[in-house]
Amino acid sequence: MMGRSMHALLSRLYPICRSLTGEGVRRTLSILREYLPGLEIREASSGTSCLDWTVPREWNIRDAWVEDETGKKWVDFRQCNLHAVGYSAPVDAWLTPEELDACLYSLPEQPRAIPYVTSYYAPRWGFCVPHELREKMKKHPGRFHAVIDSELKQGSLTYGELALPGETDREVLLSTYICHPSMANDNLSGPVTMAFLARWLSERPRRLTYRALFIPETLGSIVYLSRHLEALKAKVVAGYVLTCCGDERAWSFLPSRAGNSLADRAARHVLSHHTPGWVEYSFLTRGSDERNWCAPGVDLPVASIMRSKYGTFPEYHTSLDDLSLVTDKGLSEALEVYKLCLEALEGNAVWRATRLGEPQLGKRGLYPTVSFAGSAEGWVRDMKNILAYSDGEHDLLSIAELVGAPFTRCLEIAEKLTAAGLLAYSSD
Ligand code: ZN
Repeated sequence: MMGRSMHALLSRLYPICRSLTGEGVRRTLSILREYLPGLEIREASSGTSCLDWTVPREWNIRDAWVEDETGKKWVDFRQCNLHAVGYSAPVDAWLTPEELDACLYSLPEQPRAIPYVTSYYAPRWGFCVPHELREKMKKHPGRFHAVIDSELKQGSLTYGELALPGETDREVLLSTYICHPSMANDNLSGPVTMAFLARWLSERPRRLTYRALFIPETLGSIVYLSRHLEALKAKVVAGYVLTCCGDERAWSFLPSRAGNSLADRAARHVLSHHTPGWVEYSFLTRGSDERNWCAPGVDLPVASIMRSKYGTFPEYHTSLDDLSLVTDKGLSEALEVYKLCLEALEGNAVWRATRLGEPQLGKRGLYPTVSFAGSAEGWVRDMKNILAYSDGEHDLLSIAELVGAPFTRCLEIAEKLTAAGLLAYSSD
């Protein structure tokens, strides 16, 4: 059921032409705000310096097409918004097929796919077309009329920020991007999963504070860091970049640069217990905003759990990454895995055993009478092992790893032991 609602949101966002800046981003955020009423929409003006970058002019596009002398449209932005190169300057020109071909982009190895191409920082215009169409256009005997009805103007870069305060100001950073036009796995699966994850968080008690950022990729994290670096460095204890999490293929993990942060440990633990066959990538293969969150001097503990990782699946950055690639099941599974990670972060703490030596479990009703999903023996063993490592040093996540049991089970045991007076909270 949840997957169906997630896919419905994804389908609603899919037709919007998003880019680094512009109305498509604002429309996307206003739809997301229906799900997250606390979502604040923020702007950074064109020309603003942020770290080593400058916010560019705002880009908007109304229409684009290529027609022949008879008025027949060969390329139509209204059929697919990937047809216009992102950030294309306006154009209205009659061109020979050779002249037009210099402004076309296609993929010879995927002759039916329309590639996703942008040119944010070098002014140009262009059309992205299936390679087989490009071959036909080259042979056309007449001229083509190329029109891009776009505008580059002094405006702003837009992003969304949702803060969900908890009991402590120790913070979890959740980041996703909202800058790709009509593509599903990369990238709408990210913001859709994050919207449902944040809504779930907003409805439950929270020990930790959560900050959910819906930003244009790369420049959005640069802008955010230029405004909030010190606060992030002081508060963030873990974070994730949500992207490419809607198909049903491999589970992929990209660790933070440090590689052993709380976010990494929670993710590896959850993946090991819930997603057989998951693959760990090297930080060398990073490609999204962890490039900035984990940069030297920023050093935030931000990792990423994905299904088919960007750059590794054949539909990546083409029109083939469409609504059929991302499924109800894929989306809802990604949501569940992220929920498990956040539950591990919420429940993780350091406890200390209150008795010297192994306590007598029987007289507290903890020994033979407890049953848990099958094996009472396994339950008692895990209970004794959790007591054995509750030394005021190991946190529960590391104990769960030592015990080899899922965190949720270890947390349930730790809570029972605490209620029986055998464990005392020590620290986070
Ligand atoms: Zn991408």
